[in-house]
Amino acid sequence: MTDYDVVIAGGGNAALCAAIEAAELGARVIILEAAPKHMRGGNSRHTRNFRCMHSGPLSVLSDSYDEDEYFDDLLLVTGGATDPELARLAIRESEACLPWMESQGVIFQPSLSGTLSLGRTNAFFLGGGKALVNAYYARAEDLGVAIRYDTPVTHVHIEDGRFRWLELADGSRVTGRAAVLASGGFQADLDWLTRAWGPAAANFLIRGTPYNRGVVLRDMLDQGARSVGDPTQCHCVAIDGRAPKFDGGIVTRLDCVPYALVVNRDGERFYDEGEDVWPKRYAIWGRLVAAQPDQVAYAVIDSKARGLFMPTVFPPVEADTLEGLAQAMGLPGDALSRTVDRYNAACGTGTFRPGELDGLATSGLEPPKTNWARPLDTPPYFGYVLRPGVTFTYLGLKVSQSARVEGSAGALENVWAAGEIMAGSILGQGYLAGFGMTIGTVFGRIAGKEAAAHAL
Ligand SMILES: Cc1cc2nc3c(=O)[nH]c(=O)nc-3n(C[C@H](O)[C@H](O)[C@H](O)COP(=O)(O)OP(=O)(O)OC[C@H]3O[C@@H](n4cnc5c(N)ncnc54)[C@H](O)[C@@H]3O)c2cc1C
Repeated sequence: MTDYDVVIAGGGNAALCAAIEAAELGARVIILEAAPKHMRGGNSRHTRNFRCMHSGPLSVLSDSYDEDEYFDDLLLVTGGATDPELARLAIRESEACLPWMESQGVIFQPSLSGTLSLGRTNAFFLGGGKALVNAYYARAEDLGVAIRYDTPVTHVHIEDGRFRWLELADGSRVTGRAAVLASGGFQADLDWLTRAWGPAAANFLIRGTPYNRGVVLRDMLDQGARSVGDPTQCHCVAIDGRAPKFDGGIVTRLDCVPYALVVNRDGERFYDEGEDVWPKRYAIWGRLVAAQPDQVAYAVIDSKARGLFMPTVFPPVEADTLEGLAQAMGLPGDALSRTVDRYNAACGTGTFRPGELDGLATSGLEPPKTNWARPLDTPPYFGYVLRPGVTFTYLGLKVSQSARVEGSAGALENVWAAGEIMAGSILGQGYLAGFGMTIGTVFGRIAGKEAAAHAL
């Protein structure tokens, strides 16, 4: 049995921010990370950017991005499914976080061209989330934080509303005066995902770490902690179907859909591929593909569309004829040819303008393609397989403004939560690029300070 002031379950962004803040206040801190060292950092190591409010140019961010605009952006994606007070707190505090992150060793870079016009709102990490996580681990070690890898927490022992110790997979205990729970969502537990979503979830790919299995979340809910967020929902995008089951990360994203024809297993189209620009549509395509037979779809382009979207990690399947492509992808060739013929005949004339809504639409076709509808007629043809890729789940622990976890009879005395494990309060549905890291950084810092103040 080892005794600390602040014990932290998890080893991603939220855990590290909490650890650094608590250690800077003089607390004896330990991080218990389920993953081995080379896999440390959870989904945070896959991230690229941090969404930040700012009242004037700040570091790499241009112009300004004020609280109300940020909040309106959040309302748009969540459809109002947010806790306005917690959301505004996260937004307001983000401005002070950016210089704090730099002071802890995180280096930002200006956004690259083609990154969805995020140069004003999102600060990109030089070296990505992996570099951020490494910088924080180095800083935590310098501050004397104890770090244990390969150490899954299995149980948070609470007596009379008060945390006593964390139980580990080997049966040992780590005691502390305060606990910070920062162990992410439950998306890597495929059984839980299947129970929540239905059998189709067995065919989903998990974009991030295999270690976020919701063990701590489940344990807290079983002990009466209050929950937030829809347990049956997860954030899910369309990714390359050849990605690994876990941890494929950001590079498995496919941006070809607006310039493609997308068919299901039976060679039939099922949705308007050109409904809007891809950044506004890629998240709904996860669900669209999830609703198709076998949870799979196929995007087909011709040689005219090559070079119009970000290159993919996995090379496309290529063939000189549509029949050849269908055969190579395991699609019914006659059905695909019929679908393409019908589509080609429905394409109109007009100017094709990639990157903007060009109104080049089909006529008399169901479902229509309302932009970028050019005939698919110039070999060679290329195909990509699409699968739903889960980013995170929404179910989480309910927390107060000070990140304290709510039990069945009010706030627990000495348990805080930060990051994905409590993000459901703020992100009830949808997603705003860069906001996951905002929530983790803001509430990780708050939780670390509060836990240390309680313990010391
Ligand atoms: C591919 C991808 C790209 C993304 N890009 C962005 C982006 O650019 N910007 C953005 O803001 N958000 C992005 N997100 C979302 C972002 O990753 C999360 O919002 C954020 O990382 C959550 O931080 P966290 O610390 O709560 O969780 P994580 O970083 O996932 O950390 C959870 C930690 O808990 C550990 N853990 C789990 N269970 C246990 C246990 N029982 N005991 C001990 N440890 C445990 C895990 O090993 C892990 O270290 C992306 C997500 C994915 C999947």
